[in-house]
Amino acid sequence: MLDDIPLEKRSAYHQELYGCAEARAISEALYAGVNPKGSVMVAAKVGGKKHRTLKPACDSCEILLERFGIIDGAR
Ligand SMILES: [Zn+2]
Repeated sequence: MLDDIPLEKRSAYHQELYGCAEARAISEALYAGVNPKGSVMVAAKVGGKKHRTLKPACDSCEILLERFGIIDGAR
């Protein structure tokens, strides 16, 4: 999914494939036959002092969200 995003535009989270929850969630939706266009995605930190803090998409995921027409609910 991230293969065509140039390396210099990928965030540190995406040094590994599917580094962020967003990419994984989009992939699973597509695999399940769901078109995510128009949906709202919200990611949150899990664990630690900032548990449940909303987390805006990283630079790479922002590109993915735009590409699939998904709204980042944390912004
Ligand atoms: Zn990301």
